[in-house]
Amino acid sequence: MDFELPEELTEVQKLARDFSEKEIAPNATKDDKEHIFRKDLVTKMGSLGFFGCLIPEEYGGNSLGFLAHALISEEIARVHSAIRVYLNMQAGPAVTLFEFGNEEQKKQYIPGLLNGESMGLFAITEPDAGSDVAAMKTTAKREGQGYLLNGTKIWITNATVADAGVIFAYTDRSQRQPARSRQDGRACLAYRRTHIREF
Ligand SMILES: Cc1cc2nc3c(=O)[nH]c(=O)nc-3n(C[C@H](O)[C@H](O)[C@H](O)COP(=O)(O)OP(=O)(O)OC[C@H]3O[C@@H](n4cnc5c(N)ncnc54)[C@H](O)[C@@H]3O)c2cc1C
Repeated sequence: MDFELPEELTEVQKLARDFSEKEIAPNATKDDKEHIFRKDLVTKMGSLGFFGCLIPEEYGGNSLGFLAHALISEEIARVHSAIRVYLNMQAGPAVTLFEFGNEEQKKQYIPGLLNGESMGLFAITEPDAGSDVAAMKTTAKREGQGYLLNGTKIWITNATVADAGVIFAYTDRSQRQPARSRQDGRACLAYRRTHIREF
């Protein structure tokens, strides 16, 4: 069996390695010590297509696939583990929206997450719901044009800086099922600073 990477992927790997060494490494220690938030790196990573491996071109991705995504993650994590997390925060909600969102939501949210203009977030964890996601208590109730969210989330990366992403809540907790199911009363709420929509 041939374990060599195809040429296209070695180029992706090299791009991510060069980026990590030139753009991240020089300031990594200083940024860490001084708690500096590097939105500029998110924008640069977005413009290089680092967040778009799992999404097709029509929504701003490049369809390079999971292996490309893993290689980019590996190269960035090698230099700075926390900057690597941006791949989760941008690609994570984008993939969820791509999988479950409607056409309008995909067009509205995904391109900005992939090009790094929108800082991403996904909000699942609660004080009493970590690994056991179904234990979450947050509810979302339709109110006029929006939703009234009621609950407490913790550990939400980018919570103070996010522009767009996905918040998990129950619209009908009586339908709760222990097993993963699309009919279990849980909803994903696409979040943008100004409004929230269900999908
Ligand atoms: C730096 C950081 C950033 C994070 N960012 C986000 C974010 O952006 N969005 C978000 O929603 N959440 C985020 N989280 C939360 C993270 O996803 C949770 O910490 C995780 O889901 C685990 O939940 P918990 O900490 O409550 O641990 P618990 O679920 O209480 O688990 C504690 C321990 O028990 C083990 N365990 C749990 N269930 C079982 C089982 N059934 N069988 C055997 N062992 C089990 C676990 O492996 C773990 O070792 C973040 C956490 C950290 C530390």
